[in-house]
Amino acid sequence: MQDFNYKKSLGQNFLNDKNVLTRIVKCVPFYDNSLVVEIGPGSGNLTKELAKVANHVLCYEVDERLENVLDENLKEFQNVQIKYEDFLKSDIENDIKDYKYDSLYLVANLPYYITTPIIEKIITSGLDFKYITVMIQKEVGERFNAKPGMREYNSLTVYLNYYFDIKKEFIVSRNSFTPKPNVDSMVISLIKKDNLLPLKDEKFFNTLLRDAFKYKRKNIRNNLKNYDLDKVLEVLSKYDYDLTVRAEELSLEIFVELANYLR
Ligand code: SAM
Repeated sequence: MQDFNYKKSLGQNFLNDKNVLTRIVKCVPFYDNSLVVEIGPGSGNLTKELAKVANHVLCYEVDERLENVLDENLKEFQNVQIKYEDFLKSDIENDIKDYKYDSLYLVANLPYYITTPIIEKIITSGLDFKYITVMIQKEVGERFNAKPGMREYNSLTVYLNYYFDIKKEFIVSRNSFTPKPNVDSMVISLIKKDNLLPLKDEKFFNTLLRDAFKYKRKNIRNNLKNYDLDKVLEVLSKYDYDLTVRAEELSLEIFVELANYLR
């Protein structure tokens, strides 16, 4: 990769630490009959480790300049397919329908500039991803993992915690990448919950969360002024809160109850 002109705009910071690569792969406890999706294989260093353990690896890489490098680095593996396209525009449901597998995983060192849209696309795809193990910017990982009352707790935290148990795996220093980024990274696993809380309307839940957290300094009365505030107060009172509370204090269970009652 000596002459490769890395594109910052595509989040191209490649991982060059073999030890970190194998640790990422090991975060998923078993790979029997698995299909692993990887977004952004880059030069294929993580792909190679995944191909050794998974039955199938399906990758999306937007940068076609990497095709020769990937062909060369992965030539010994027959179980890897690479689609040269923007993952956010891909039809993943269609792409995976011919694969036979028992478990579906996402394992990737994500392009950080689109971390949230990627995760949202994965969740709303309706596909049954059992494990999502991703390397992301450390600060974003702290948000995913935040608890009520913490500064990092936001609408995405609640949304993710609805679907997944969130496990902080380990921190990776910026020195493990080429070129070296300005931030440290975190590997985090989102593990699909077996029992989801009953929810009438997932889309409405997501909208409610975004509205509740819209203006950080404002309380629920202000942020939810377009909702039925009597009903909101009714739910909050059960938990000893009133309309002056801020969204960042409220747990997942309270948001689910609010969403179901307001819908
Ligand atoms: N997996 C490699 C590694 O760990 O060294 C590379 C990871 S690098 C952080 C992110 C990769 O995502 C780059 O190869 C970049 O070209 C690719 N990428 C960026 N935007 C993308 C998109 N919209 N769809 C698919 N791949 C994308």
